[in-house]
Amino acid sequence: MYLIDYHTHTRLSPDGHVPLAEMARAAEKAGLSELCVTDHYDRILEHGGFAPDYDWSPALEQFRTTAPAFEGKLQLRFGIEYGSAPFDPDYARRMLALPELDFVIGSLHNLSPELGGEDFFYFSYDSEETCRRVLDDYFASMLRLVELPETYDILGHIIYPLRYMPQEISLDPWWDSIDTVLRRVVETGRGIELNTYCGKTVAPWRPILERYRALGGELITVGSDAHFPERVGLGIPTAYDLLKDTGFRYVTTYHRHNPVPKPL
Ligand SMILES: [Zn+2]
Ligand SMILES: [Zn+2]
Repeated sequence: MYLIDYHTHTRLSPDGHVPLAEMARAAEKAGLSELCVTDHYDRILEHGGFAPDYDWSPALEQFRTTAPAFEGKLQLRFGIEYGSAPFDPDYARRMLALPELDFVIGSLHNLSPELGGEDFFYFSYDSEETCRRVLDDYFASMLRLVELPETYDILGHIIYPLRYMPQEISLDPWWDSIDTVLRRVVETGRGIELNTYCGKTVAPWRPILERYRALGGELITVGSDAHFPERVGLGIPTAYDLLKDTGFRYVTTYHRHNPVPKPL
């Protein structure tokens, strides 16, 4: 089986820890065939306001010096997890025009600037009201993101804020928005990811996957969101089982933004 991990972070992410070589060695050890590095750039800072412009050089340098050592053993791809494209689309288009880039995850980690731009990570989700306010804003931003298909290949962790919320929070109020998001993803030739959150979140993806398939969705990546080498590949085999069970036949890899299907 051709196992991939298309969502991983190295020390070049503000919350990353180790160089790409260590993540790649871990991927080999975990039996993966392909690893895509997707370090973070968020256009909005953790507590709101625009981030400084991105300097690609350390990421390019890290990739160029690491990839040759893994040739023939592990396919490495060069990606990025880009956050908050809808809040400054021109910058996203400019930055993501880099020709060496294989793959872009389009993510939303922050409230919209209109609501202060705070990172979802920093809220305490102790009231239903807070959860509702965050999810209303989150899915409204996602509806803006899917109208900018030139800024991403794969829509990042659609159920992301749920990882910080109490388990009883239901997505019922947002299914209409999510269906619209998924429909636009399909219509614009983009895809989604199944983000296993280091193996902690696989089963909760089922309703998203079923709806996406029903709307004609085929392009899908899987990723662990690992920030440590020991978490690379976690949950990927279970994710493959769930994909097969929900009617997918392929997982998608990317080379210079071109989808390359791999049978499950
Ligand atoms: Zn993310
Ligand atoms: Zn991530």
